[in-house]
Amino acid sequence: MRIAIIGMGTAGVSLLKELVKNKHFSELQIDVYDNPKNMGQGVPFQNDSDQLLINLPAKDMSLNLDNAQEFYEWYEKQSTFKFSHPKYLPRFIFGHYMKDYLQQFLTKYNNIQQIREEVAEVFIESDVGQTEVKYNVCISKDMHNRKVYDVVFLAIGTLSYHDPYHLKGTVGYIQTPYPTYNTLDHVEDTDRISIIGTGLASLDVIRYVTAHHPNLPITVTSRKGRLPSVRGEMPEIEFKYLTPENFNAIKAKHFGNVPLDEAMSLFMKDCALYEIPVETLVHRRQNDPILDLTYDLEHSEVLGRFQSILELTKENLNWIWNSFSRSDQKRFLSNYQSILKENSNPMPPQTAQLLIEHIKNGLIKIEKDLETVTHHDSEFHLKFKDGSVQKCDIVINATGSKTHLSDLDSDDQLVLNLEDRQVVQGHPLGGIQIVAETNQIISPRYGTLKNMYALGQLTNGINQSRNGVMMIVRQAVSVVNHLFETNR
Ligand SMILES: Cc1cc2nc3c(=O)[nH]c(=O)nc-3n(C[C@H](O)[C@H](O)[C@H](O)COP(=O)(O)OP(=O)(O)OC[C@H]3O[C@@H](n4cnc5c(N)ncnc54)[C@H](O)[C@@H]3O)c2cc1C
Repeated sequence: MRIAIIGMGTAGVSLLKELVKNKHFSELQIDVYDNPKNMGQGVPFQNDSDQLLINLPAKDMSLNLDNAQEFYEWYEKQSTFKFSHPKYLPRFIFGHYMKDYLQQFLTKYNNIQQIREEVAEVFIESDVGQTEVKYNVCISKDMHNRKVYDVVFLAIGTLSYHDPYHLKGTVGYIQTPYPTYNTLDHVEDTDRISIIGTGLASLDVIRYVTAHHPNLPITVTSRKGRLPSVRGEMPEIEFKYLTPENFNAIKAKHFGNVPLDEAMSLFMKDCALYEIPVETLVHRRQNDPILDLTYDLEHSEVLGRFQSILELTKENLNWIWNSFSRSDQKRFLSNYQSILKENSNPMPPQTAQLLIEHIKNGLIKIEKDLETVTHHDSEFHLKFKDGSVQKCDIVINATGSKTHLSDLDSDDQLVLNLEDRQVVQGHPLGGIQIVAETNQIISPRYGTLKNMYALGQLTNGINQSRNGVMMIVRQAVSVVNHLFETNR
């Protein structure tokens, strides 16, 4: 069986790891594609400043579902990278752990070949009147250099960054903050810097700038001006009420769907079981960054329980989300998604301490109610809801990546080509259409593609909020199991 894995970050390496473990591995011929820089490491875990931390303790993140501490054990054994506080390790270390897996496989097995190029086209070959399909992969526009596969895994990670104020290409506008250690290459010490976006990417920039340019003041701004929550003490939690069994019983009475309100009532019962005061925690914010960060630091136990239950919800969101009707999915996005987002993926407590220190000493200002950003006479004008305007020389875009195919431009050319050739189609709530249970791509022209799978953020309409490492690893395990079950 000839297999292509396109994209060798967390999903690609996890898929390869599962294929290697399989008893049919010796019958496979596997090509793995990525550019030389990201091969085996991916984008979030690329080489970058050691100020960018993994957002969970190193002992809780691993590519091995049977050993949650494998990454930490790998870190302890090697001698190249050593840190004095290894509880939260820099992200690039995880990249090296992943890359080590790839290197070992490449050295040990001659049926794995790395192709250090990006894929430009994946197209389907199928004769008129026939239903059989072959998957073709090209690294250039020259069709003659295509390679034909029986199985293709699309694991290309996040889509390109949003450009909400149409500033891409403007001098002084930094469209993406990564790698942060190159972000300020052309910034003068006298430049006034603003970061747009107050999520995790903006925290990365803050950590980098304050460590390397300690006297550069920064304004951090967004519409809501809200920072992510601070990681509490997150215990192991299990659902007693929000279970597939209860969902199946409800679905049987509601035209095959679970009404959102019924799902919420099961969720609230589970919260009550763990004594989580949901209402208080959802409304705890006072819109003052110091008070909000301090609250989180001082309530780490109860907040940690809330974060654990939200994290567990995200891990199970596949069957939860896909049991809702489309209208309830939309209702979920408008009523609950921001709560989920703000309280999961929390920042490490040490980042919160650092923020408090820099807000207090005036180096960082967090501003809400941003309305527009424009560029006039070599300056950026940040306009706020109350009509005030703040000027600056540099704007760093930390607003996150695009989710919908309709927003893409040539930065995501492979996806645009896939859509144009009718291999993939957009999901109305983001990403591409796949079968929720198997990750098989649903083509608008060829129907469900038996052996073409997609993983990662490209599937965000179906895999709503399920893009953390452990969720991706779980998907890789089940996708590879599915492949061998259906191709026996
Ligand atoms: C800044 C940031 C920080 C994060 N931090 C954490 C964290 O601390 N903990 C956590 O659990 N999750 C974190 N995440 C979530 C993260 O997205 C996932 O955990 C995971 O890394 C995603 O894996 P992936 O394989 O889908 O994407 P990636 O790991 O990015 O891999 C995708 C790969 O595809 C390649 N590629 C793209 N286009 C092509 C092409 N045309 N041809 C060939 N290759 C291509 C890219 O070069 C890249 O190497 C973070 C995400 C971001 C954006």
